[in-house]
Amino acid sequence: MTKFGSWGNLVKTEHQIEYLQDAYNLPETFNDFKEENKGSVLAVGNGRSYGDVCTNSGKKLLKTEFLAHIISFEPEKQTIECESGVMLKDLQRFLVPNGFMLPVTPGTQLITVGGAIANDVHCKNHHMFGTFGHHVESFTLARSDGEILRCSATENKELYKATIGGIGLTGVILTARLKLKPVCGPWINAENVPYENLDEFYQLAISSEANYEHTVSWIDCITGNGERGIFMRGNNASDPEYCTVDRNIKVPFMMPFSLVNRFSLFAFNKMYYLAQTMKSSKYKAHYEKFFYPLDNILEWNRIYGPKGFFQYQCVVPLDGGFEAIKEMQKVISESGQGSFLGVLKTFGKKEPAGLLSFPKEGFTYALDFPNLGAKTLKLFESLDAIVKNVHGRLYLAKDARQPKELFETGYGTELINEFVKFRDPAMSSDLSRRLLGF
Ligand SMILES: Cc1cc2nc3c(=O)[nH]c(=O)nc-3n(C[C@H](O)[C@H](O)[C@H](O)COP(=O)(O)OP(=O)(O)OC[C@H]3O[C@@H](n4cnc5c(N)ncnc54)[C@H](O)[C@@H]3O)c2cc1C
Repeated sequence: MTKFGSWGNLVKTEHQIEYLQDAYNLPETFNDFKEENKGSVLAVGNGRSYGDVCTNSGKKLLKTEFLAHIISFEPEKQTIECESGVMLKDLQRFLVPNGFMLPVTPGTQLITVGGAIANDVHCKNHHMFGTFGHHVESFTLARSDGEILRCSATENKELYKATIGGIGLTGVILTARLKLKPVCGPWINAENVPYENLDEFYQLAISSEANYEHTVSWIDCITGNGERGIFMRGNNASDPEYCTVDRNIKVPFMMPFSLVNRFSLFAFNKMYYLAQTMKSSKYKAHYEKFFYPLDNILEWNRIYGPKGFFQYQCVVPLDGGFEAIKEMQKVISESGQGSFLGVLKTFGKKEPAGLLSFPKEGFTYALDFPNLGAKTLKLFESLDAIVKNVHGRLYLAKDARQPKELFETGYGTELINEFVKFRDPAMSSDLSRRLLGF
């Protein structure tokens, strides 16, 4: 047994760890399922989920890091096929010089393709491109009865929908074929616009959706009125002088990005000041800096100390959601908890790609909280009540503690019951035992 924990560092528990070496040579549990193996295994990628969706205490983890091969790249079809343990960073670094990007990647590229599908991750461009799952043409899935199924929108389509956002509970994703977005280089035409309150944020968010692919904002949760922030928006650069794959081009101006922790207040103030003095500041950003500002600081999660931290991420619908965000912001500011910066953005109308996909139309708000024990859990109860009141939901990739009742009202028992039909009986996680019974 080996101790393993997720990104939030809340707890490390004993696991039996097995490394998948070959997509077609799975452990015995996967050839001949027996009742005694019920809920015994879970596939994991890079463990960048914050809570217990990627842990399986006392049981087996199947790690995919050696399933890291690109199988085929077909530029004329704008697709790439790879094994599920390939990291998005490696894909992006291969694709960008070849004139493509993954259409949707989250705020870190240090995650695997399997993890991106299983949590159906989102980016700053949900209003235009939806989630990662919307760009998965097909994947192969190993089930514990020994079958390996190809799943797509036309083949095994129910299992396809259940596996996207299926939090690893429908089997082991072995390979995936992904659709790509053409780009002419690595640069983003980016702009930072400061705002003084959430009403200004709202106007910026609504007015930016038609013309900007990437939109996100940071809220300063500590200083001022707890409502000021910076709205960031951008598009992939297509101006001819930037249409190149030469990484050594000089960029005229690059904004500083830094940590989401105590150092970030300094960076935020500096950025806010710069943005203010320049009114709204436009600049060219390399995609790695623009999309994944924290990836340069390895293991920044340790800054919260041995008790770890939670990330609370909810989505609340347009109807009543904006008032709910304001209320949450007030409760958080008054509690004196939470890190310095929150991330606030909008999700568009896109139909969800998976049965249990997190995004739905509205506002999503994410904030880190150092684990202060009962005090922090008490604050979450207040936030849960606000989310529940407007029929919002919490993101399972970030969750470590939500009550079953909030999960059921947030995702809806009908959808959950539909999802459960596609579970592989061999798979379970600490989260599935907490919220789904096994
Ligand atoms: C700094 C940071 C920023 C982030 N920003 C965002 C963001 O902007 N948007 C967003 O959506 N998320 C974001 N996340 C969350 C992260 O993208 C997800 O948690 C992602 O799923 C982690 O991928 P992973 O490879 O580490 O998978 P893990 O965390 O190891 O596993 C995640 C889930 O995938 C399942 N899984 C993994 N591989 C397989 C497989 N081969 N077959 C079946 N199931 C599998 C696991 O069982 C588990 O349920 C962020 C995380 C960090 C640390």
